[in-house]
Amino acid sequence: MTDPDPDAGVDRGPDGRSTDIPSGRGVPSWMAASLNYCTRCGGPLRFGAIDGEDRDRLACASCGHIAYVNPRLVVTTIPVTAAGDVVLLRRGIEPGRGWWAQPGGFLEVDETVTEAAIRETLEETGLIVQPGEIVGLYSRLEAAVVVLAVEAAVTGGAHRLNAEALEIREFPPEAIPWQGIAFKTSHWALADWVQRRRPDLQPAARTWDER
Ligand SMILES: [Zn+2]
Repeated sequence: MTDPDPDAGVDRGPDGRSTDIPSGRGVPSWMAASLNYCTRCGGPLRFGAIDGEDRDRLACASCGHIAYVNPRLVVTTIPVTAAGDVVLLRRGIEPGRGWWAQPGGFLEVDETVTEAAIRETLEETGLIVQPGEIVGLYSRLEAAVVVLAVEAAVTGGAHRLNAEALEIREFPPEAIPWQGIAFKTSHWALADWVQRRRPDLQPAARTWDER
């Protein structure tokens, strides 16, 4: 056995499937546009080398505050009914308006992942769920998010349309509308769920055209 080549890099795991852009490109430009001033003192932020940091970072030229930029966590559920159907919603807002996705949203700073999963699912579908196993975790470097998908048993509530859902429907695993899914991450999460629960089925591949 020889030691692995330290320069060979690390293959992307399952969480790297959501994007083809290379790692290590720094802050996405759309995000950098909102990172001009120090949130502590209002001074200008400058990008460059900082003592004690192993990569260049944004820091305040006046007070030295370092503006760390990290991805946000999006918590989503794959709600499953007692009959084994998946509940999806046709999105009422951009991005992906009019296309199917699972419920989910940004984790608030004062709630747990489980609380966020329950809250977002209730807000967007009217259903009460009990979050269960993690289906997958997907990085999207271009969006600066990490998307978590958890399987969640539907335990109560009733479909309730709202600003975020034009339509709410239950789909048997064999009838998931693969060609109408809004996001790559939704497609991967649903495919991972199908692979886990119904390995006899083949999730339909699709060409991307991100919504
Ligand atoms: Zn400052």
